[in-house]
Amino acid sequence: MPDSDQNASATTFNQFASDNYAGICPEAWQAMQAANSGYVTSYGDDYWTERACEQIRRIFETDCQVFFVFNGTAANSLALASLCRSYHSVICHDLAHVETDECGAPEFFSNGTKLLHVPGPGGKFDLAEVERTITRRSDIHYPRPRVLSLTQATEVGTVYSATEISAASELARSYGLRVHMDGARFANAVASLDVAPADISWRAGVDVLCLGGAKNGMAVGEAVVFFDRELAEEFEYRCKQAGQLASKMRFISAPWIGMLEGDTWLKNARHANSCAALLAEQLSAIDGIRIMYPQQANSVFVEMPEAVADRLRVAGWRFYSFIGSGGARFMCSWQTSRDEVMQLAGAVRKAFSQDI
Ligand SMILES: *Cc1c(COP(=O)(O)O)cnc(C)c1O
Repeated sequence: MPDSDQNASATTFNQFASDNYAGICPEAWQAMQAANSGYVTSYGDDYWTERACEQIRRIFETDCQVFFVFNGTAANSLALASLCRSYHSVICHDLAHVETDECGAPEFFSNGTKLLHVPGPGGKFDLAEVERTITRRSDIHYPRPRVLSLTQATEVGTVYSATEISAASELARSYGLRVHMDGARFANAVASLDVAPADISWRAGVDVLCLGGAKNGMAVGEAVVFFDRELAEEFEYRCKQAGQLASKMRFISAPWIGMLEGDTWLKNARHANSCAALLAEQLSAIDGIRIMYPQQANSVFVEMPEAVADRLRVAGWRFYSFIGSGGARFMCSWQTSRDEVMQLAGAVRKAFSQDI
């Protein structure tokens, strides 16, 4: 098959599977290209990386310490490892990415720190459950709770308010725990709440934020943002040891400049969120569909008959279904168009009509 045909077939399927199916947004691409001239010093000791760090400090309005790694699993795992000793534990939600989707990397990089997962409705913590988990035991046979890890936006597309984060942080702090935030979709949360990034991070008690880049429109890369600089001590060694120190760092850091300088990160997130809102509106009008969680970020989770989901797949639509029987996740990105949303809604209606 000639190359051009391959390219065509690679780009023509319909999908709401994940925001990481999207490409690189123009602003990130241009910033990467701008960094591609002349010789530049390596391993992060360069102008682009410095500027990217400054942009992150600007949007968070504080003098935080910033590190760039390749992906979210590394960001979360290394951040958690830096907060814990091997006999500590991290409290996270049942659905947390660190628990369900990181192949044990947080435990691996922290040399045995245990994840204790607790339930809560809508992908968010039930703080009474968190407190029970912290206080259940205090003997040396139980891994000592050390970190509370929140995901913002959550794995089911809901968003913690600033007040909810503060309440969780205060509870954590009252027992001497630190607060980690998995912000793979932090931009979507900021856009959804329309707040200052600081209000749902350090001002609400977050010590370390893993700030997502890839799902927001970059090729690769997440930033680990330490609001408590002491916690960042020797973090660069962890990055290097874990194979997360890019030698041509500028190509990971420069896109952040493109994302942050003109507030592209929020423009992308607002767009993805609004596509999800449109989709939720369309799907909720269909008889037989139940929206499973409030649509607050860039995803919509629905319950629909298995036969309808099967027909959608046969018609070429890609999406995830992993939450309960019949549950489907539709995820929007910076690249999703409102046309695509309407096409999907039409395809769902058609799949239902075949049912009768
Ligand atoms: C995608 C995602 C990550 C990062 O995953 P990687 O594939 O390791 O980049 C982390 N947390 C959440 C909630 C995610 O959805």
